[in-house]
Amino acid sequence: MTETLQCVRCGHVGPNVPSLWRGFKKGRIICKKCYYQEYALANKEVIAEDKRRWIKADRERFKATQKRWTSKNTKKILARVRKYQASKINATPKWLDIEQFKQIEAMYINCIKGYEVDHIVPLQGDQVCGLHVPWNLQYLPMSVNRRKGNKHE
Ligand SMILES: [Zn+2]
Repeated sequence: MTETLQCVRCGHVGPNVPSLWRGFKKGRIICKKCYYQEYALANKEVIAEDKRRWIKADRERFKATQKRWTSKNTKKILARVRKYQASKINATPKWLDIEQFKQIEAMYINCIKGYEVDHIVPLQGDQVCGLHVPWNLQYLPMSVNRRKGNKHE
């Protein structure tokens, strides 16, 4: 038995303690972290569904967790907001005229409670990036919009 093992995925070397490694049966030894990463990637929908169910079942606990995360990560959140704002600026074409700017503004001003202005093609999409133009905006119920994230369907 060797003293250490190496992850075939990330190259991490660690002590040969079975609880730290996965894939013995398949003969493809990977570290626990990579295992969970692969699992999460392969089971995105299952995990999202689990999370939704958990949130529904224990709304108070979820809110508390979220609050804790928010207060611990204010700088991270700010960075995300800034990144989003930057992408919005880059996504606003120079040829947009004043009327079209007003249309965009009006979309935000007239947005009713419980709804959000959504970019039909997300500004920070995985594959394509949409534009911050009137015809790429729509109203979506907040809950739907949050679930959509950066996915473009
Ligand atoms: Zn690894």
